[in-house]
Amino acid sequence: MYISKSFIPILKNNPSEAKIKSHQLMLRVGMIKQSSAGIYSWLPLGFKVMKKIEKIVREEQDRIGVQEILMPTIQSSEIWKESGRYKDYGEEMLRIKDRQNREMLYGPTNEELITDIFRSSIKSYKSLPQLLYHIQWKFRDEIRPRFGIMRCREFYMKDAYSFDISDEEALFSYNKFFLSYLKTFKKLNLKAIPMAAETGPIGGSLSHEFIILAETGESKIFTDKRVFDLSIDNAKLEKQSLENMRKEYEQYYSVTDEKFDKTEFEKKVSEKNRLITKGIEVGHIFYFGAKYSKPMGASVDLPGGKKDFVKMGSYGIGVSRLVGAIIEAKYDEKNEVMKWPISIAPYHVAIIPMINKNDNSQLDKANNIFSELKKNNIDAIIDDTDENISSKIKKINLIGVPFQIIIGKQSVGDKLEFKEVEGEPQMIELKDVIKIINKQKEKN
Ligand code: ATP
Ligand code: MG
Repeated sequence: MYISKSFIPILKNNPSEAKIKSHQLMLRVGMIKQSSAGIYSWLPLGFKVMKKIEKIVREEQDRIGVQEILMPTIQSSEIWKESGRYKDYGEEMLRIKDRQNREMLYGPTNEELITDIFRSSIKSYKSLPQLLYHIQWKFRDEIRPRFGIMRCREFYMKDAYSFDISDEEALFSYNKFFLSYLKTFKKLNLKAIPMAAETGPIGGSLSHEFIILAETGESKIFTDKRVFDLSIDNAKLEKQSLENMRKEYEQYYSVTDEKFDKTEFEKKVSEKNRLITKGIEVGHIFYFGAKYSKPMGASVDLPGGKKDFVKMGSYGIGVSRLVGAIIEAKYDEKNEVMKWPISIAPYHVAIIPMINKNDNSQLDKANNIFSELKKNNIDAIIDDTDENISSKIKKINLIGVPFQIIIGKQSVGDKLEFKEVEGEPQMIELKDVIKIINKQKEKN
């Protein structure tokens, strides 16, 4: 792929309407384009990154045995009337009428729809647990959409739902998601802290938000630094192991301002371990028992012949918000360098030849390297523009391509000038370039 032929509309300067670095960068390198207030188109660079994040999110759902489905974005108001939320949800819900004058809505979340799907087919405890998820656009008519895709109106979310026979089994499901969320964020190179949270319009009794630290975050957080030393490496997909892991997290005080209690914080956390800062919510999990299954009549036959309402939980990850959250965590604003983890970088490597109108040899070399990299599953982009090398490097740093091959005066014979973003250049052969990049890919 040539940069000259790609749709990467880069701006010279930071757009003035953007207040935080993720929004600035996403507009600056043309990852997104606003289409109306809080609604965005995803351009190739942004879409590539979001799809890679989605892939990691999906892998970690599949790993704990959640089954993928796809529910529509448009829902009927009927099921929301059954649960009682049609009225409760208020103005954040975008309500639409179809040509038959039927009340429809653009789904802000899917508890009702999934409960309807469940109740129409699952009748016995023998089919439990059921864990289902989808990755789909949501619409919430936020009162103040801002910070680009971080708080927008239409956004891409992974939402999962669990159905169990008892509180005990439901807690097991909850803990599976708890672990899979920590793994997902770790894979994305993020340090996410689970925090006891309020349940809001979803409702329920048990809830955790997963928050990453960022100065520009909207949530004020109060936490115990020791939570960063915890590890999930030994957690197994077994009841006791998962329960122990969650308890280990819960022993450290970690809340957002909604749940903050000064006396408790000061009692539980010694001064040197206290951390008061800001964060971004990237995921949120809820346990709410029969909150939806009861009003909607989703029950199953129990072993003794009785019936009971199924116990449910729901589990969300903001896939599109994560693009911005990762930028907030990784972008070096001062030097204008973006450091995507290689697993989600838009390209693995940029090939930067010196372009000379009268001599195609550098570009030919770039093309050959490109084909060789492609054979080795390395996704490269060639900067074939006629800018000088240093402005090309600046641009590649801004986009956040983690590796660069520079084909200039230094690259002679089999040796190529190769460097990592912000690293020192080294002169090595292509086969070693491939080794280094693939090793990095495996690590991630
Ligand atoms: P917030 O507190 O940020 O408004 P929420 O608690 O309303 O979010 P949930 O219902 O828990 O959101 O949704 C699950 C996830 O979806 C959130 O953790 C977040 O990552 C993402 N999300 C929610 N609202 C938005 C939005 N307006 N724009 C982008 N992502 C969002
Ligand atoms: Mg939330």
